[in-house]
Amino acid sequence: MMVMRWRRKEPDREFTSFRLDCEERVRALRLPPGELTIQSLLDHLGERFGRPIHLVPLALPPGSPDGMWVSAEERDFIAFEERLAPIHQRQVILHEIGHFVCDHEAAPVMTPEATRLLLPSLDPELVQRVLGREHAHSPAEREAEFIGSLLGRQIGSWTTQRVWEVPPEAAELAARLSALERPARERDER
Ligand SMILES: [Zn+2]
Repeated sequence: MMVMRWRRKEPDREFTSFRLDCEERVRALRLPPGELTIQSLLDHLGERFGRPIHLVPLALPPGSPDGMWVSAEERDFIAFEERLAPIHQRQVILHEIGHFVCDHEAAPVMTPEATRLLLPSLDPELVQRVLGREHAHSPAEREAEFIGSLLGRQIGSWTTQRVWEVPPEAAELAARLSALERPARERDER
């Protein structure tokens, strides 16, 4: 019995410290008081990190991750599957925002050729990382998911309409991503 109790306590303590770390990270964002919209959240984060973030709704090919964070030199894109149910879209977007907030590292997953294909209007050298949404239970994935859920609580209304402005290079990105047979990440991982 003692062993069982001890074993049960350890993960709890671990989760508590994980939760507190995440909450602290969200507090440190100094979000404006009151309810946010997804756009006001993105605007705030963009200003805070000095990197505008654009949402890019896409029809991704089968087998793709349903969300991707594409980090270029001066701005970030969060691409998500536009055919998902709104509630799932919301979860995907918040998850990718979680990665952005945590500044998670992603190994460069794209060859220069793939980058050129994907982002012809962006200098390949400027694309620092592309992070596909995965459901692996890695610490980074757990963190992104939890921070996304914390941020989601602050968002009052959620529109499924495309109220966001898609910059020209993101529209290009959308077209290229849609044309891919498989996500770059999977290809590179072999
Ligand atoms: Zn993820």
